[in-house]
Amino acid sequence: MRVFRCNACGRNLETKAPSCPECGCGDINEFVIRIELCHPAVRHPLSVHKTMVLGRNNFRLYGEEYGFVSEEQFRLVKAEGGWEIEGIAAKNPTIMNGTDITGQGPVPLPDNAVITVGPFKVNVKYVEAKV
Ligand SMILES: [Zn+2]
Repeated sequence: MRVFRCNACGRNLETKAPSCPECGCGDINEFVIRIELCHPAVRHPLSVHKTMVLGRNNFRLYGEEYGFVSEEQFRLVKAEGGWEIEGIAAKNPTIMNGTDITGQGPVPLPDNAVITVGPFKVNVKYVEAKV
């Protein structure tokens, strides 16, 4: 997922453009969005910048109950339109914002979503990085 923003007026652009349609400024910054999975117990949360499967081993640092997370729990998908999450059919459900998304295929993963896996509730945080 990529985001373009005019450095002069702050307007977000859907696609890369040589100049801002709002103010005509040619100073367009490009950002990529990565995801952090925040949790009160974790100072350095998992950071994801590409499509990947997360599971038990990734949650070791979130607490001793990581054993209740499935080996392969969910997939974070970096799609053209934005981030998505796919709950992998496993022993344990993957809950997003209160809905069980296990086996539903990829669904949009918005900023500030709450993912519940096993005993953990993690907060999704979009983080912009300038390209
Ligand atoms: Zn502008």
